[in-house]
Amino acid sequence: MTVYNFCAGPAMLPPEVMKKAQQEFLDWQNLGVSVMEISHRSAPFLAMVEECEASLRRLMNISDEFEVLFMHGGGRGQFAAVPLNLHLDGLPGIYVENGIWSSGASQEGAKFTAVESINIRTDKDGVFDIQPVAQWHLPEKAAYIHYCPNETIDGIEIFDVPKHDSAPIVADMSSVILSRDINVDDFDIIYAGAQKNIGPSGLCIVIVRKTLLAREGLPRPSILDYTIEAKQGSMYNTPPTFAWYLAAEVFKHLEAMGGVSAMEAHNKKKAAILYDYIDSSEFYSNKVAKHCRSLMNVPFWLKSDSLNELFLAQAEQAGLVALEGHRLVGGMRASIYNAMPIEGVQALVEFMDKFAKEHS
Ligand SMILES: *Cc1c(COP(=O)(O)O)cnc(C)c1O
Repeated sequence: MTVYNFCAGPAMLPPEVMKKAQQEFLDWQNLGVSVMEISHRSAPFLAMVEECEASLRRLMNISDEFEVLFMHGGGRGQFAAVPLNLHLDGLPGIYVENGIWSSGASQEGAKFTAVESINIRTDKDGVFDIQPVAQWHLPEKAAYIHYCPNETIDGIEIFDVPKHDSAPIVADMSSVILSRDINVDDFDIIYAGAQKNIGPSGLCIVIVRKTLLAREGLPRPSILDYTIEAKQGSMYNTPPTFAWYLAAEVFKHLEAMGGVSAMEAHNKKKAAILYDYIDSSEFYSNKVAKHCRSLMNVPFWLKSDSLNELFLAQAEQAGLVALEGHRLVGGMRASIYNAMPIEGVQALVEFMDKFAKEHS
């Protein structure tokens, strides 16, 4: 039986990449040892790292005005790194909040610097909604503007990019990076924990505008220091080498698949199949306003919560795993990142329809 894994993260990776990694597991590049067992400063590893960055730069069209860092500590590491590196005396870090992750970033930021939160949620009558970007009231002066373009748990995606005359725009793209075309120049820092669209957890990609490296910020651990990491080629300390290698393989795979615009078309198709079915059903619902529905994470609710356990058990028997919603929002959640094939979404909809007919 084919198993489709809808886990929100760590999420499924492209099967082709996993198979290649398996083949190379014990003997990478005819070295007779694994990529995990060699020095991160050895020539073959450094060559891999260089190609990895070049590949990501091609995929996202990242200019020379940005450094690309491969850091430790996942997405949450950056919740601390951003305020520590970008702090300015007397100016707050602005946190736009539209869900659980952006609130988490704000709380962590408040440990280190003055923060100001802007709540853009406008939920009404059981519909989860947000203010469009054009209506956000961003202050004239700020140390930085932090926001989360895709709230993984809430299933809310922001498709427009905020603009600011002076403050850098920082985006937590952990669950949306490489899923659709963006213009990197619209941002100043993009960061993403790897375990959704890139590779194994632990690694975090940080794309940072070089001019920001001049900021003094606050005293900080060297492993969270952008300037040190940039100078040291992300090797101030031993990097997560296996995760880095796998990320390189995923990037290579994405390029072979036609790059980010091909992914975007694929992702839009998948999301449409699922949302259209949910909207046409009396049995299931999605509570997110249409203009901000996530292409990556689709939360949905059954007519009655009392059927949740049965739904999950039968879904698992049908090879559809990890559909349980986050404990904070309940219901179900199907995460359909780049690696999820269209067949997986079709199988899910077929199962949902059968289940609904049996329990209506
Ligand atoms: C998963 C996720 C994180 C957390 O990443 P960790 O690697 O667990 O620290 C942060 N932000 C968003 C939007 C996420 O989806």
